[in-house]
Amino acid sequence: MILDLKGIYKNYQQGKMVVPVLKDINFSMNEGEYVAIMGPSGSGKTTLMNIIGCLDKATSGSFFLDGKDISACSENEMSDIRLHKIGFVFQSFHLLPRQSALANVEMPLNYARVPKKVRREKALKALDRVGLSDRVNFKPNQLSGGQMQRVAIARAIVNEPKLLLADEPTGALDSKSGAQVMDLFRTLNEDGVTVLMITHDPDIAAHAKRVVTILDGELQEKR
Ligand code: ADP
Ligand code: MG
Repeated sequence: MILDLKGIYKNYQQGKMVVPVLKDINFSMNEGEYVAIMGPSGSGKTTLMNIIGCLDKATSGSFFLDGKDISACSENEMSDIRLHKIGFVFQSFHLLPRQSALANVEMPLNYARVPKKVRREKALKALDRVGLSDRVNFKPNQLSGGQMQRVAIARAIVNEPKLLLADEPTGALDSKSGAQVMDLFRTLNEDGVTVLMITHDPDIAAHAKRVVTILDGELQEKR
């Protein structure tokens, strides 16, 4: 099991008020799965993704990622887990604007202290997997939205993460580029990448093999 969440609650403190955002989330995922978490704006999707991505901690509950108890981890341990086990894809790509596609994809490998030659080989291979071998030296402003998102996906998979996490990956794309990103996720999943995608769009969620709904901070799953 790659993910196991039991009884997860997340509250935000708003002045003197406690705002409950996630309520008793129970969710698990096996390696190799392709799951979508779908829910309307404000339902708690990003809050949940931040917890699963080890960017934030739950208020209470138990959370294991790849067998490790994250609730017991320090900030440093969490950043280590992010670097080695999780690939992130965001709605707005989060690319470095002055850097080439290749340099953007190499970035996580720099942090992981991978030697330069290996870095380059792995980044070129990742760009090839997303179909951008002919764009490696282009900067983000020389790429279309769909191409920028594919660079971001190459960056997310370059370190061979245990889990690919995507928050509204098609939210900023036209429908044709969105469809290409969905094709890519399917191919990556067929090649063994575990994918967890978060979206408000039922048509996008339908690309996953399993869909879980979040409404007002509570998960519901039809099996
Ligand atoms: P979604 O991604 O589904 O649109 P979010 O997880 O971003 O939803 O937000 C869920 C709820 O949590 C919203 O009502 C939002 O206002 C609240 N929220 C999110 N982040 C914070 C924060 N840092 N402080 C207070 N409330 C927050
Ligand atoms: Mg969100």
